[in-house]
Amino acid sequence: MNIIVLFGPPGSGKGTQAKILANKFNLEHISTGDLFRYNIKNNTKLGEEAQSYIHNGNLVPDELTTEMLIDELQRNSTKKGFILDGYPRTESQAESLDELLNNLFQTKVDVTLALYVEDEVLVKRILKRSEESGRTDDADESIIRNRIKEYYEKTAVVSNYYKEQNKLVELDGDGNIDEITAALSKEIEKFV
Ligand code: ADP
Repeated sequence: MNIIVLFGPPGSGKGTQAKILANKFNLEHISTGDLFRYNIKNNTKLGEEAQSYIHNGNLVPDELTTEMLIDELQRNSTKKGFILDGYPRTESQAESLDELLNNLFQTKVDVTLALYVEDEVLVKRILKRSEESGRTDDADESIIRNRIKEYYEKTAVVSNYYKEQNKLVELDGDGNIDEITAALSKEIEKFV
């Protein structure tokens, strides 16, 4: 089973690339953001619990997020592998992921592919995306900046976690979509 983690700040293009790559390599795409939005839209208990965090641009507590991830991994246990988009986002989630993968599938993360993009480019991209996404957390610049702040405070450290294990590959996320897909594909091909 292949486990590919896509990593980077909000707006770095993880979601866009994850969809393309999942299709290309026949892997299951798990986006924790999409799962939360699905739950919010369908008024589930989980959606209700997550809603205010997301709306304000804060991270949802680890426990809720990890429980949701476990369900999704279990539902897809026969798949040949996963592209994780938006998880792990804290050091504690990174530790949980290792434990989970070991317990559920006796497997490990193959590689973490990190996309880097400058903050001002991120803000512009997300504001532009809000015209189509309808996401409340995309439409307001102060919420966007809070998401970027959460990234630097809680998520950026996750890259060290993988760096120490020699599993981190850093890529420039400021380019055209095809070029970035090609660069990411080159790394994934080493594992699939
Ligand atoms: P983006 O990467 O552009 O911020 P996502 O769709 O990945 O968009 O995430 C949207 C929101 O969902 C985040 O701002 C956060 O509130 C919540 N979220 C997603 N994944 C996680 C996670 N692993 N841990 C905590 N909160 C999360």
